[in-house]
Amino acid sequence: MNLELSEEQTAVRRLARDFVDREIAPNVVEWDRAEEVDRALVKKLGEVGFLGLTIDEEYGGSGGDHLAYCLVTEELGRGDSSVRGIVSVSLGLVAKTIAARGSEEQRRRWLPGLTAGELVGCFGLTEPGTGSDAGNLSTRAVRDGGDYVVNGTKMFITNGTWADVVLLFARSTDAPGHKGVSAFLVPTDTPGLTRRTIHGKLGLRGQATAELVLEDVRVPASAMLGEEGKGFSVAMAALAKGRMSVAAGCVGLARAALDAAVRYAGEREQFGKSIAHHQLVQELISDIAVDVDAARLLTWRVADLIDRGQPFAVESSKAKLFASEAAVRAANNALQVFGGYGYIDEYPAGKLLRDARVMTLYEGTSQIQKLLIGRALTGVSAF
Ligand code: FAD
Repeated sequence: MNLELSEEQTAVRRLARDFVDREIAPNVVEWDRAEEVDRALVKKLGEVGFLGLTIDEEYGGSGGDHLAYCLVTEELGRGDSSVRGIVSVSLGLVAKTIAARGSEEQRRRWLPGLTAGELVGCFGLTEPGTGSDAGNLSTRAVRDGGDYVVNGTKMFITNGTWADVVLLFARSTDAPGHKGVSAFLVPTDTPGLTRRTIHGKLGLRGQATAELVLEDVRVPASAMLGEEGKGFSVAMAALAKGRMSVAAGCVGLARAALDAAVRYAGEREQFGKSIAHHQLVQELISDIAVDVDAARLLTWRVADLIDRGQPFAVESSKAKLFASEAAVRAANNALQVFGGYGYIDEYPAGKLLRDARVMTLYEGTSQIQKLLIGRALTGVSAF
């Protein structure tokens, strides 16, 4: 793979860097404390094209390849993982799935608004009783004439209270396909759908994470995305690409940890010299730097495979596994460089560590990524 960026990729990265420094960095501490990112930011993300990357212009997208998408995602992750996650879900899991698997009518209905940042999407797979074992979900969609009537509860849904549409996975009646799960595009103002914000998160506090309760929610059959009973493969395909996006965000988070640690090591003096002079501090910093580079290379490989139309799911699991664990290590090492100051939120390391921690949990925990990689290598499913 060619590691040199094209002019277009370099330009989009510069655009993302400037955007993050101007619109995100100055507000990060305030949003984290208030437990809410300023929602006006979503429209701004749409205006610069970051919510339409890889989507055709015909549907309001801004085009670009998956490497460009990773470059932007890395910058957003450097700025604020809450913002990065809003984009990874609304564009990465929802809009990209509609573009890839939706009907022409669904594309025309949802994509222009999602790519412009006028609408927000969320991805409703996890339930209170099923997380890693997502295929075992129990939300039901029962056919009733030309409609489906949906009942169930979805848990930990990123963008949940902000979203205008939920890409919802439910077990539909008499579905002939794999495990009988179908995907639906459900407007969140549909009667019977209620949402509750989940407060008290360790990190990603700026994000609107919610529980969605569906009580006799009636959706037309035309809201089904893809074929009946094939919804689990829709979810898995979305997550395979989504893991690359999480990995790119982790690279950005680790880079933020590196920048902060290097800066602080040059400023802070102990034993009569800046702590950058102490070899064990340099070890902490160099460990972060190696993690950043290794995670980025794994992530770019996934983008390259996608852009060349090659299989990428296992490589995406490897990138997500490594990058998420690396992000936790990087933030933890940065916190160590900051000493006691790392423990208070006037300095960035603590928030980076809180935000990093969830990356090893969502879109498949580290254990689940290992099982996916192990299955591909051995041919044996250990699920
Ligand atoms: P469990 O599945 O109960 O796992 C608990 C532990 O058991 C973990 O360590 C796990 O690795 C381990 N484990 C489970 N099965 C195995 C096995 N077979 N072998 C070895 N170990 C195993 N979901 C969505 O659908 N949409 C979202 O937008 C979304 N956003 C999220 C945002 C946040 C902030 C959080 C915290 C979660 C979000 N999730 C979302 C849910 C997330 O994907 C799940 O939390 C995750 O898949 C793990 O499921 P669980 O929490 O039920 O843990």
